Amino acid sequence: MFEVFILHNMEIAWSFYELADLLEFKGDDFFKLRAYRNAAKTIAGLPEPVERLYREKKLAKVPGIGKNILAKIGELVATGKMEKLERLRREIPGGVLEIMALPGVGAKRASIFYQQLGAASLDQLLQAAREHRIRALAGMGAKTELEIVRNIDILRNRAGSFLLGLARQLADELTGFIKMLPEALKVEVAGSVRRWRETVGDLDILVASREPEQVLDAVALYPRTREILERKRNIIKVATWWGIPVEVAVVSPEQFWFALLWNTGSKKHLEQLINLSLSKGFKLEPGGLSGNGHQALIPHSEGDIYSRLGLQYIPPELREGRGEVEQADAHALPELLENGDIKGDLHLHSNWSDGGNSIGEIAARAREKGYSYIAVTDHSQSLKIARGLTPERLEEQYALIDGLNGEYTDFTVLKGIEVDILAGGGLDLPDQVLETADVVVASVHSGFRQDPETITSRILQAVESEHVDIIGHLTGRMLGQREGYAVDVERVLEAAARHGKIMEINSSPDRLDLNDENVRLAREYGVKIAINTDAHDLKRLDEMEYGVATARRGGLESRDVVNTLELPELLKILRR
Ligand SMILES: [Zn+2]
Ligand SMILES: [Zn+2]
Repeated sequence: MFEVFILHNMEIAWSFYELADLLEFKGDDFFKLRAYRNAAKTIAGLPEPVERLYREKKLAKVPGIGKNILAKIGELVATGKMEKLERLRREIPGGVLEIMALPGVGAKRASIFYQQLGAASLDQLLQAAREHRIRALAGMGAKTELEIVRNIDILRNRAGSFLLGLARQLADELTGFIKMLPEALKVEVAGSVRRWRETVGDLDILVASREPEQVLDAVALYPRTREILERKRNIIKVATWWGIPVEVAVVSPEQFWFALLWNTGSKKHLEQLINLSLSKGFKLEPGGLSGNGHQALIPHSEGDIYSRLGLQYIPPELREGRGEVEQADAHALPELLENGDIKGDLHLHSNWSDGGNSIGEIAARAREKGYSYIAVTDHSQSLKIARGLTPERLEEQYALIDGLNGEYTDFTVLKGIEVDILAGGGLDLPDQVLETADVVVASVHSGFRQDPETITSRILQAVESEHVDIIGHLTGRMLGQREGYAVDVERVLEAAARHGKIMEINSSPDRLDLNDENVRLAREYGVKIAINTDAHDLKRLDEMEYGVATARRGGLESRDVVNTLELPELLKILRR
């Protein structure tokens, strides 16, 4: 008797991805890693079973499959194992593999934690985070440290609700994998993740394919799949190693757009859509749209469905049943802000306080993103834990920024400060210091439990200060960790409108503060918004999209947001 292994292309591909990760952890050279990763991608995308191509000796002709890789595939086909990978799995401590699998960590960071902090298990990493040893590493800020603590916590407690940021990372990865399958014709995220809700219960993915079995098999074999909870003909529900449950549904290409509309929800939005359809003589169902003298619709996009009903296209962020269906019917939807409208970031931390990068590094990354300006807003002196800046250090920092700006012709670093609104009221720096800044963000970092009157009047005082431009993270909430302060949001918005002050949408996925509801209110009060990342390291500059999505959920247009302005126009607002 001989054993027969039938290996799915995805399984072979993942072996090469894992091999590359483990070698990266060991510090192997870049070209080798790239060769393995490219081979993995090629294998995943092959329309025929790799195993058969190998047996028929056709695999060597595939570009990117060299001798070394071919030999490893041969090993997998013959024995079901790859010796080199098995050896690495034995050699690298199991705890390190768990660290590597943490959201946002990966091989490179796991290797830094191992070498520089001696972290070889989740417990050791947690210990290092609690002792603030992670934020001391180059390129990693306090936020990365907090996120690691939280993700380990989620992993261990398997909470029922997850932050959007975590769900979207998993969504990007999983849809990326599914897209490599030749059987997958279209892949989209659906559900509350597509609507960018701040917390979600699960991740829904929709795939168009003629071969659902193949797609569902690949999801079952996906390395982050921990357990299959349910499998039907065209749906699979799995538990993942990240804690978030995932549901993947496969439909035919003809059904795709109706299924996407349905699986995106929300329930309330669909109810209102169905009611409006009925009032216009249509019948809208999960599988199609008919009636009103028309033939059944064969849509080529979701837009076709809305359009047949006489509606403007409703972006997923607005589909919460908050009046968007009537607005679309009256062709009165706001022209929502887009990611590409953002020209700069006005709340960032450098390694002068608790950030992980130099101002030069942050500016370089922001320029790469296509921004024309940023404001560096480190913490002020009273925030000792974050190494807040004294007037003297701030003056030094501003001199350095002047020097940096001399080097750019197409980019400006604005001199900023995130000044503390002190627990007893008042600001943490004197007026003559604040006067030297281009951008003053005022935020609360203490006295979170004060009664509504006390905390509101503290913030109102900041709104009334002539040097303050922006109020940072107004409610101070940390999603899943602590409620916001008892601040009277409407009173603050009313005062902000009166004093021409800007309110922040803090884009960090654990804050999203203002939230969508408060964004809506701010717009009603006529208050301008700044969408900022509050990034403490370079990676987090990319979190801007969460703030933009929150703004879109709140119905904002480009003109409602100050950091869509070119610098001269922005300065006019900041200097008045
Ligand atoms: Zn802050
Ligand atoms: Zn900040």
